[in-house]
This record gives sequence, structure tokens and C-alpha cells, in this order.
Amino acid sequence: MTQEYIDGLLALAIAQARAVNIPISRDICPQVRLNRRARTRFGCCVRQGGTYTIELSDRLARQGEERAILQVLCHEVLHTCYGCSNHGARWRGYAQRMNDAYGYQIRRTDNYSQLGIQDDRPVRYWVVCRQCARRIPRMKRSPLVDHPERYRCPCGGTLRVEEGGAPYPENGKV
Ligand SMILES: [Zn+2]
Ligand SMILES: [Zn+2]
Repeated sequence: MTQEYIDGLLALAIAQARAVNIPISRDICPQVRLNRRARTRFGCCVRQGGTYTIELSDRLARQGEERAILQVLCHEVLHTCYGCSNHGARWRGYAQRMNDAYGYQIRRTDNYSQLGIQDDRPVRYWVVCRQCARRIPRMKRSPLVDHPERYRCPCGGTLRVEEGGAPYPENGKV
């Protein structure tokens, strides 16, 4: 897993939340901070000044299925909403909206049973921002791949789709 890949998934999590009108912060650092310390939690949302940084467990980034990584990123992104620094009713309502829209199972806590399998399916499509060139990896067709015009990059740019094909390089080696 490369930093670019994880950052692409964060961009997707942000785009998905915005697409269902969840008022997440406009000030989320586009780069996920991979946390290499041994931790029991998989993700963390850190606020410094007015900016939010999403942290992800390095172990999850390396070993988790894409779906599990996305779900944790979505969980953390929801913490950037007003009044959502905890897992109160407002946060749970947004989590439910994401679950209903995308089939996630965002919960207050996660456990290792849903993680642990490396996803080595090829990247079939890259959703690319025309403005900032950010690249979102997709393994199969989806509403985003079929209708990129309905979504926006976190930077506000419009999106286009590129055919992928080659398996995604493991450990970032090409
Ligand atoms: Zn949380
Ligand atoms: Zn962009």
C-alpha cells in the first residue's frame, strides 16, 4: 500500500460523505498520517487549529481490505462535522446515512475480525481529478465510475475516469 493509494481512499471517503450532504469540514488534510505505533484503534481524527488530520493504523493500511480501510476513513471523516467529536446522536445519524447509502457498517468501534486480508485485486479504474490530479482507485464499476460528473474531488475539481488494468503494485514497488 502506498501513501498515494491511502490518500486516494480518503478522497473517496470525503466525496462519498459530501455526495449524501453530510457537512464534513472543508479543512481536512488530504494526506492520511499513517500511525506506526502499536495501537488498539485503527483510526483517529486529530484537530490542530482549524485543520483536521486523519490518522490510520499502518497495520490496517498494509493488511486491511480496501473496504475496511474506507470504512475507518469514513468513520474518522464524520468526526470533522460540527458537534461530532464524540460518538453522540449527531455522529451516529451521519454514520447511519453513510451505511444506508454505501453499505458500510460504520460503528463506534471496530475489531480485527473484519480486517487482515490483503486486497490484491487489480485496480480497474482510476477516478482522476481534472484540477489537482488526485487519483482514486476503484476495483469495479460503481455509481462513481459510471457517473463521475455527479461527484466532486475534495478540492472542488471535476472528475474523469481512466481505465486501469495492471495489478496495483504491492508495497509501492512498480
Ligand atoms: Zn470515532
Ligand atoms: Zn482535486
